[in-house]
Amino acid sequence: IDSADRSPLLRTAGLAAYYGELRAIYDISLTIGQGDVLSIIGANGAGKSTLIKSITGLMNRGRAAHTRGEINYKNQRIETLPAEQIVDIGIAMVPEGRRLFARMSVEDNLLAGAFLPRCRPMAKAKLDEVFELFPRLAERRQQIVSQMSGGEQQMVAIGRALMSSPDLILFDELSLGLAPTVVEDIYHVVQQVYRQGVTCVVIEQDMKRALSVATQVCVML
Ligand code: ATP
Repeated sequence: IDSADRSPLLRTAGLAAYYGELRAIYDISLTIGQGDVLSIIGANGAGKSTLIKSITGLMNRGRAAHTRGEINYKNQRIETLPAEQIVDIGIAMVPEGRRLFARMSVEDNLLAGAFLPRCRPMAKAKLDEVFELFPRLAERRQQIVSQMSGGEQQMVAIGRALMSSPDLILFDELSLGLAPTVVEDIYHVVQQVYRQGVTCVVIEQDMKRALSVATQVCVML
């Protein structure tokens, strides 16, 4: 919307992504400014999830899933890096469906987000930050994740992403299947994360919500 004055954090050029022979996205050239909230909107199957999986290294699986084109992050080419190196350079993702360790506790799920050597020394302090952001999780730190509500699980997924101190977070389908009041709480946290200077990419089905949080909008057709 108005991000012309922001310096670019991530830029794609001519990006395409394939599942085997199937080309899911094609010729995506976009720039995400430092401190932006970029909302990606588009029909089911337009390739929104594939785009953020491409940025986070999850499409680098040889012939099964691969990309073409460029992804630049902080002036470094990253399109061939494996997913754990992408986390290491400061990009985290909250995946669609959350993908938590269902039989582990809240605390252990969060600590899993700090698995890299760079993150381990800060893990305790980060845990405290996440609990401050989500007091509900602090009260339930020993609870097994599969016994929690969808909204609480989404909070764990966001908290886990924050554990690696990212500069860029990509949120896939944040509000899917959640009650309106819970969505309100989740977006309140996204605002707080954004105000701390973390750049955010949000895939959101709820158009009104997507436009209300965005500083920049990308429509995928
Ligand atoms: P949705 O909102 O439904 O999640 P989306 O915009 O996120 O849609 P993608 O999930 O990125 O879209 O899917 C883009 C295209 O790639 C679709 O045609 C889909 O069928 C295909 N696709 C997605 N995942 C796979 C996969 N693992 N294997 C093969 N094709 C896939």
